[in-house]
This record gives sequence, structure tokens and C-alpha cells, in this order.
Amino acid sequence: MGRIYLDYAAATPIDKKVRLAMEPYLGKNFGNPGSLHREGQIASAAVFNSRLKIARALNCDYEEIFFTGSATESNNLALRGVVKSTDIAKPKIIISEIEHESVAAIARYLESDGVEVVRIGIDQNGLINLDELKRAIDERTVLVSVMYANNEIGAIQPIAEIAKIVKDFRDFLAKSRAMEVIYPLLHTDATQAFQYIQCRPDDLGIDLMTLSAHKIYGPKGVGLLYVRNNKINKYKSAANVITPIIIGGGQERGMRSGTENVPFIVGFGVAIEIVESTRLKEAQRVKKLRNYFWGKIKKLKIDLNGSLDNRLPNNLNVYFPDHAAQDVLITLDMNGVAVSSGSACGAHTTEPSKTIMALGYSQERALASLRFSLGRGTTKADLDKTADILSKIIN
Ligand code: PMP
Repeated sequence: MGRIYLDYAAATPIDKKVRLAMEPYLGKNFGNPGSLHREGQIASAAVFNSRLKIARALNCDYEEIFFTGSATESNNLALRGVVKSTDIAKPKIIISEIEHESVAAIARYLESDGVEVVRIGIDQNGLINLDELKRAIDERTVLVSVMYANNEIGAIQPIAEIAKIVKDFRDFLAKSRAMEVIYPLLHTDATQAFQYIQCRPDDLGIDLMTLSAHKIYGPKGVGLLYVRNNKINKYKSAANVITPIIIGGGQERGMRSGTENVPFIVGFGVAIEIVESTRLKEAQRVKKLRNYFWGKIKKLKIDLNGSLDNRLPNNLNVYFPDHAAQDVLITLDMNGVAVSSGSACGAHTTEPSKTIMALGYSQERALASLRFSLGRGTTKADLDKTADILSKIIN
């Protein structure tokens, strides 16, 4: 029996075009991009071309892109890097209550080091409270970090509105001090958003952005951090706002040492190009399928976490009263269907999802909820079958 995979938010299969583009760099083009000879130059050109492709997709300068080993690393670099580079005494950072652990954990770490961390709550639709954000921003705030789309409930944040709040505060500071100011900066983790929403830093008004290849049909183990080369605030070099975490040979213009992962970086570029040329159509396709699936299963004794409107088109997160999520997950798996409770990163803990609880729900509900996430391989037949299996489990 074929498996039905409904966990695309955890991992996506590598697109065939991505795999083919990576192939030469896993084989004959094995040179080190740092070497001066021809083999090195072939590798270095491949990294450069991928950077250019990505810059074109993001409508940014290629020098604003820094390759990393994951979205986790990019998030760590953004938060820790900004805090370490500022000379503001007792710096403050603002995040949302539902950030991925790779933001939440580094924020806790910085907090234990004396940084003030403010966590902004969300409403029943998963949207962060903008008034709370406005009240929290002050002259000690160095960074606001709010994810574009949540990995568990798919909630999409109004990043452009958040950017306006941050910019207004910066303008106010600049005026009162009669000088240009850099802080607060705005970072967004767009790891889940990128597949379905255009993420162009200038359109969004953000200064820093995290992406990861394996959520967009690229390889696991490569991410990037976009860092604005801000002509207005004159922090022309990213090094002025971010202190690197990994130091050594000075690759990625000193921002992230370590020999570049050439095949994966090549794959990342192609994956991004494919998303750019197929995004809208695919978003509409999965949304239709997701709504069809919800239409079928909502008749069962289950409830939706978050709102159907304000979420990624491929995401559904539902509550099963009277059932432990782990039991439903395992029964689905035994019947050939792969889904997830919470995020893959938190799947090995029995902790209730803090995201579901941030929606205002009980711990019991947080422990009885599952995430279905659709992707390029999902068909209507898969969803019919899954709905049948679910109906047997629940009844
Ligand atoms: N941020 C978000 C929103 C994610 O969904 C994930 C992956 N679950 C990450 C960060 C971490 O990504 P990576 O596996 O590339 O470190």
C-alpha cells in the first residue's frame, strides 16, 4: 500500500530538478570555493550563481544573502548576532509567544545572559497583538523578531504592518535625537511562509529574514539569513549589525566561516527559483484541497485550531476531543498516513504545544491536536482516504 504523506511542514522531498542541479557538485565538481585553481573557481562560481538567483527572487542585493547550515542557525545568528553587536546597555528584544524553538530557545539563552525579552501574545486567530507590540518597543529595543507564518497552526502575521510600527519608532527616535538610528531592527523567520507567500524584504520592510531549503523541496542542512544593506541607516556592512557566531576562515564575508556546502547551496537556489515560478498556482491548488479535506472531516467530532482564513493554504491543525494526539497519529501511521503533532522539532517531547495554548486553549486541547500539512504530492484521493481512516478512528 502506498503511503500518504501529510507532513510537508516538517520536510519536503527534494525536487528532481534540484537533485539534477546538485549532482555535478556531489561528483566531478568537488573543488573548494576558496581555492584559486580552476576546480575552486568552478565551485565558487556555482555558489555565486546561486546567490544571484536567490537575490533576484528576493529582489535584493546578492551581498545581502548569507548562507548558513539551517534556519535554526540563521535564527540564532539573527538574535544572538544583533544583541552581541550592539553597544546599547541592557538591550531588549521582542518576539512573539509562538516563535519556533530556534528563536524561542536563543531568546531564553540571551535572557539568562541579562537581555530583556518581551513575548507578545496572539489572539484566537493566531495574530499577534499589535498594540502590545507598540507598547513594548522602546529605545533599548534592538530587535523585533516575528515569524511570517507559524509552523504548527500556519498563522500568517501582518509583517508589513509590524514593519511600519518598527519604522515609525525608528523615525521617532531619529527625529528626537536628530541623527540616524539603526535600532530596532526587524527580523522575520519566513521558513514556512516562503513556499506560499512572496517574501521580498523591501516589500515587507524587514531588515533580516531566515529561510531554509528543506521546507521548499530543497536539501536539508542549508539555510540563509538575509541582512539588509541599509543605505538609509548607513549600516552598509552587515558586520555592523551582526556579530558572527561561527568564526574561522572568513567565508560568507566573515559572517559564517566554514567551507561552503556547494551542492546544497546550488540546490537551494534552484528550489527558490522553482517556488518563484510556481508559487501562486500551487498555493491555490493546495488551498482548494485543504478546504475540501476540512469540509469532509469537520463533520467528525473535531475542531479547528486557529482561523481558516489567516493561515498557510496547506495547513490544518485540528483538535480531537476524547483522543490523545499521539494515539491518533500512530493509528494513522499504521494505516499508511503520516501526520504530525506540533512541530517535528518538538515531536519527541510530551510537552503540550505552547502555540495551541497561546491561542487560549487548554493543555488538554494542546495534547489532543494534530497538524496536517499538504504539499506538491498531495492528491484528492489521498485526502479522501485519510478522511475515511480518520472517521473510523474517531467513531
Ligand atoms: N523556523 C520554522 C518556522 C520552522 O518551521 C523550522 C523547521 N521546523 C525551523 C525554523 C528550523 O529549520 P531548520 O530545520 O532548517 O533548522
